[in-house]
Amino acid sequence: MKVQIYKKTKDYFKKPPNLVDYEKTNRTFSWKDAQQEIEYVDGKLNAAYNAIDRNAVNFRKNKIALYWEGDEEKKLRFTFSDLAKLSSRFANLLHNFDVGIGDRVFFFLPRVPELYYGFLGAVKRGSIAGTMFSAFGPQAIEDRLGNSSAKLVVTNSELLPRVLKVLKNLPELTNILLVDSKLDRKEGHAHVLSLENELSKQSDQYEARLMDPEDPAFMLYTSGTTGKPKGVIHAHRSILHEHMSAKWVLDLREEDVYWCTADPGWVTGIAYEILGSWSNGASSVVYSGRFDPDIWYRIIQDYGVNVWYTAPTAIRMLAAAKGNPKEKYDFSSLRHLASVGEPLNPEPIRWGIKTFGLPFHDNWWQTETGGILIANYPALDIKLGSMGKPLPGITAGIVDDSGKELGPNQEGNLAIKPGWPSMMKTIWRRPNKYKSYFLKGWYISGDRAFTDKDGYFWFIGRADDVIKTGGERVGPFEVESALVEHPSIIEAGVIGKPDPLRGEIIKAFVTLKPGIKPTEKLKEEIQSFIKHHLAGHAYPREIEFKDNLPKTRSGKIMRRMLKAQELGLPIGDTSTLEKF
Ligand code: ATP
Ligand code: MG
Repeated sequence: MKVQIYKKTKDYFKKPPNLVDYEKTNRTFSWKDAQQEIEYVDGKLNAAYNAIDRNAVNFRKNKIALYWEGDEEKKLRFTFSDLAKLSSRFANLLHNFDVGIGDRVFFFLPRVPELYYGFLGAVKRGSIAGTMFSAFGPQAIEDRLGNSSAKLVVTNSELLPRVLKVLKNLPELTNILLVDSKLDRKEGHAHVLSLENELSKQSDQYEARLMDPEDPAFMLYTSGTTGKPKGVIHAHRSILHEHMSAKWVLDLREEDVYWCTADPGWVTGIAYEILGSWSNGASSVVYSGRFDPDIWYRIIQDYGVNVWYTAPTAIRMLAAAKGNPKEKYDFSSLRHLASVGEPLNPEPIRWGIKTFGLPFHDNWWQTETGGILIANYPALDIKLGSMGKPLPGITAGIVDDSGKELGPNQEGNLAIKPGWPSMMKTIWRRPNKYKSYFLKGWYISGDRAFTDKDGYFWFIGRADDVIKTGGERVGPFEVESALVEHPSIIEAGVIGKPDPLRGEIIKAFVTLKPGIKPTEKLKEEIQSFIKHHLAGHAYPREIEFKDNLPKTRSGKIMRRMLKAQELGLPIGDTSTLEKF
């Protein structure tokens, strides 16, 4: 397919970006030099101290750190000093509840302020903070709280019954704190207490515990797109990576209002809504209400959002909504747009340019990598559909299945040289799983990709999703990207379907724009459209129309589920599946 380039001219930049010269920085950068951006004391540090407390004692003390908005336009504001005090209360609470260093504390909450300062308080204390997405059901909760042996959980009255349902299988869980109740009671072996009451008894002063850079700070379960979610442990050292990548990739500046739409149930909401963004001193917007294009646009306009970090599914949903938002809303505050979580097809980037006058900058990383590793930077031109280039300080490569590095334009495993600061410390209670990520001095991501001659990285698909048809390998991403170029299609998921003749054939599941009729004629038209866009062998021999595609709750298309359904196979772990 022909590559389209978005060139950045001089007028693109009102001010130079934080990372002015990518190539030069990439040549000269060292993580050791960058350590001066973070406060270490005798080689020790605390990730949450660097995100919040140090900004509560410097010139940012009274700056708004969090603009919070819930349903029905309920609004709250917190300064850095407010968050430092509230998180200190929570750290003192943990101390008084005998939750110690390395003990697991989980937050099972929607995006309420308590989640943000509670998480910071747990990290300040040196406990291991974890999150669970608020839509999880009892089994998903039992899996995560059981695997992590959490001692304390913070949740709300609406979610509590799901925890109680599995409480008997969680003997270590002895305290459950509710953000919205004043009544204390006992349920089985656990105390159910009011968070507000307990916090009011604590001092708002707490000196963040200095930790070894290797000590665990937080844990997160992966999205479960490919199988059972893994409990990934991250160390305090990760803050250095999150800080530098937020500065360079999200281009956060002192005067910025920043909006990350991710939920802290997933890694993006931790690394770039709590840690790296606040360590850079950004004022962040958190919107906890339901998805509605009009509300999202109003938030950008009313808060004067400058930097917006979102995900392909959200962009496609906005693009599919009726009307032209440009006519109704003022987007002039926006300066930089970024996207993560799934491959970003060229079509939504073009829609972004039309609607906001700016391209979305795709970047790639994983729960395991703890921070952005490959990105499109404000200072570089964008090749539409490419993930961009490695972050300075990161050595990324494409290697074959024996660990041998491959040259440009060769498909292989996307791999990274280990040792970057936010690399996972381990997989909780699965040391062999952790070891299995490494091969001949490389971290193997599980994704397939290639590089071009200019050093840009291109995503092909997850290793398990690559299709072998008629002796050729086809990445689902390129077929899906071509499909969503078709004017009738919103979203597409592509799988390989076993075929006696060709090994596999390509089968596409597509959702249509509102009002479009799903006819046989349309299928043929789509097929010939793809033949024109891609090589002949890469067109889907089968197309099925669907109202929705199965997705994880973090918005990723679950191709393994499409495949299992197609072949009548067991569908495996569905704890992260969105209602479907
Ligand atoms: P599991 O490991 O449990 O199957 P998961 O891999 O979806 O779940 P995450 O760590 O949340 O869990 O997601 C990381 C994966 O998301 C990457 O390995 C990649 O497949 C995909 N991804 C993230 N960002 C991008 C991107 N910019 N382009 C393409 N793929 C991306
Ligand atoms: Mg994964």
